[in-house]
Amino acid sequence: MAQFAVFGLGRFGAAASIELMRLGHQVIGVDNNTKFINRLADQLSHAVIADVTDEQALQELDIQRCDAVLVAIGEDLEASILCVLHLKNMGIEQIWVKATSKAHHMILSRLGVSRIIHPEEEMGVKVAQALNYPMVNQYLALGNNQYLVEIDITQRLQGITVAALLADANAFVKAVLVKRRDKLFSPLASDFVLEHQDRLVLAGSLDILKSLAPKLT
Ligand code: ADP
Repeated sequence: MAQFAVFGLGRFGAAASIELMRLGHQVIGVDNNTKFINRLADQLSHAVIADVTDEQALQELDIQRCDAVLVAIGEDLEASILCVLHLKNMGIEQIWVKATSKAHHMILSRLGVSRIIHPEEEMGVKVAQALNYPMVNQYLALGNNQYLVEIDITQRLQGITVAALLADANAFVKAVLVKRRDKLFSPLASDFVLEHQDRLVLAGSLDILKSLAPKLT
């Protein structure tokens, strides 16, 4: 279990905080607006009303113990930058920041934060990729053009073996696991028989995975 601080509990910060809690971590949520704090108070480990541009207030939050701080203040550029400066001064190493403009990005990269997030752009790319490859429920880019994808086995594919499904791509794609209701099957033999509603996780290069698309629908 790790401990995180999320500064700014607007839509982005709130969603990130709630997901971190769901994943079993501790989250200190901070916002200077009582309304946002009240909305989330009973869902987070701690919810604190504070101005994160106030260095004294940050010192009192005991964030040195956190594994990472997410600065999720979008609109107020000055507040976001001031807060990052204070965190840097305090020696916080893992600082993730939501950026809203090119100027914001440039300043943050000069300040040397760990990660700059552009939610709209990153989500736009994800949506385009999902539209491009609609049978994929979820995917994870592993780097070097390698992907992990999760696909649903349709009624049409009921009874097909893993080897028959992958056919020519067999040598290039790894069938990692099958999730069938509450059971996981892994490793998968090539004669493993797939059933309708199985979730199959494959790993391989994007081109090869795409070449399987006509078979998977
Ligand atoms: P979103 O698009 O995710 O809703 P916003 O920029 O609208 O993002 O939300 C930012 C949040 O950060 C708001 O809840 C706001 O109250 C909070 N916030 C802004 N400035 C400060 C500050 N100086 N200290 C603490 N919280 C702040």
